[in-house]
Amino acid sequence: MRVLVVEDEHKIARALAKALEQETYAVDIAYDGDEGYAMATTEPYDIAIIDRMLPGEYDGIGIVKAMRDAKVHTPVLFLSALDSISERTAGLDAGADDYLIKPFALEELLARVRALLRRPTEQQSDTLIAGDLSMDTVTYTVQRAGKTIQLTSKEFALLEYLLRNQNRPLSKDVIISHVWDYDADVLPNTVEVYVKYLRAKIDVPFKKPLIHTVRGFGYKLEA
Ligand code: CA
Repeated sequence: MRVLVVEDEHKIARALAKALEQETYAVDIAYDGDEGYAMATTEPYDIAIIDRMLPGEYDGIGIVKAMRDAKVHTPVLFLSALDSISERTAGLDAGADDYLIKPFALEELLARVRALLRRPTEQQSDTLIAGDLSMDTVTYTVQRAGKTIQLTSKEFALLEYLLRNQNRPLSKDVIISHVWDYDADVLPNTVEVYVKYLRAKIDVPFKKPLIHTVRGFGYKLEA
């Protein structure tokens, strides 16, 4: 899943990005409000973590409002050093989905990110399931037919995206934009290569394939 971090304090931004990347997310950072606004409204992020106070024309509240006005429904986790009832409600009223007060523990931030990524209508837990395959997004355990499968972080990220969007044909471009960050060196056949790695681990040893090629388009995960 691809995450946008908008935070002008470089140290905090990099610490967040590092923690998120360790959890297999693809992360882009914007260091001011205007860059954050531009990225949040043009790139397809799965979640945005936005600081309240930012230099530039757009502060955190301005970005969230602009996103919602532009019909961008990316879940937003708001960060703020300001802790008061009026501050919290200002962020949530602007359209943020959750609010975290600085300083915070990285563990708590990661738990809230996971919670925001759950689609209320589809998944109520941190476990994603397709047929006899299951992925625990907290412990990073993937099992098929009771057998534990070891994946690299990129393979895990790709499988997570396919699982969260199962039964839907996904183009290679859409997959790239949700699994790789802006600066990644993505070649035209990158998705094919990673799908091949993933199939070798989750499909080839089992009877029924889960990843299906959609000819001339991309892939679909279907049990
Ligand atoms: Ca700030």
